[in-house]
Amino acid sequence: MKKFAKKVLCLTILFVLLSVIIITKEEKIISTLNPHLNNEFSAPQREVLVLSEEEKICYLTFDDGPSKNTIKILDLLKQYNAKATFFVIGNSICEENRPIIERIIQEGHAIGLHAYNHVYEKFYATENSYLEDYETLYKVLKEDYGVETALFRFPGGSACKYLYGNGKEYVKKMQEKGFACFDWNVTGEDSVGTPTVSSIQKNVFERVFSYHTPIVLLHDSSIADITVEALPGILEKVKENGYKFDTLEHRKEYVFSGSK
Ligand SMILES: [Zn+2]
Repeated sequence: MKKFAKKVLCLTILFVLLSVIIITKEEKIISTLNPHLNNEFSAPQREVLVLSEEEKICYLTFDDGPSKNTIKILDLLKQYNAKATFFVIGNSICEENRPIIERIIQEGHAIGLHAYNHVYEKFYATENSYLEDYETLYKVLKEDYGVETALFRFPGGSACKYLYGNGKEYVKKMQEKGFACFDWNVTGEDSVGTPTVSSIQKNVFERVFSYHTPIVLLHDSSIADITVEALPGILEKVKENGYKFDTLEHRKEYVFSGSK
C-alpha cells in the first residue's frame, strides 16, 4: 500500500511539472506569434504640398465611423466629385464594415487614426496609453486592410480637457513617430446636443469661408443621420464659393496647441 502511495505521489509531481512546462511553452509561442509585439510603430512617409495663396481647398473630415451613414456620405462625395478624410475608430473596424473601409480607399479618400477605444478615460488613462491605443489601431488597419496612414486626430482634439493642457506634448510623441496631427478650424457641431440640418450648415458656413484651407469637423457614426442630410447643402455652397475638396493626405499639419 505504501509503495502504491509513493507511486501516486511521484506521478502527481510528474504531472504537475509537465503541466508547468507545457503552459510556459504555450505562453512563449503565443508571445512570439503576437504581431503587435516588438514591431516598430511609425508612420509612412508623407509628402506635404505647398499651395499657392489663391488656392481654396476644403478638407471635410468625418470622425467616429465607419457606419451605415458612411455609405450615404460616400455616395454624396461621389456625386459632388469630392474627396474627404475619415478618422476611424476601432469598434467600427470590423468584418461587417469591411466593404465600407475598402470603398473609402478605392474611391480615393483618406483614412486617419482617431482611437481604437474612444472611451476618453481609457484612451487618456496614462501619459502613454494613447500610444498603445494608436499602435493597435494602426496595426489593425495595416495588417487587415493594407492601410498605412500618417494622419491622426485625438478624440476631443488636442486641446481637450483630458490632456490637461499638455496637448502639445501628447502630439509631439506621435510626431516623433512620423504622424501628423489634424485638429479642425470649422465644426458643424453635429455631435453636440440636438443638431438640425440648418444648425450644422449654419455652423459650417459661419467660419468655413474665412479660411483658404478649412478643415471641417463632421461625424459619420451610426447616429449621424442629420449630418448626412446636411451634407449636400454644405458641398454645394462650399463648391459655389470656389473651393475644391481634398483629403488631408498632403496638407500641412494643423494643431490647436501650437499650430504650424
Ligand atoms: Zn470622436
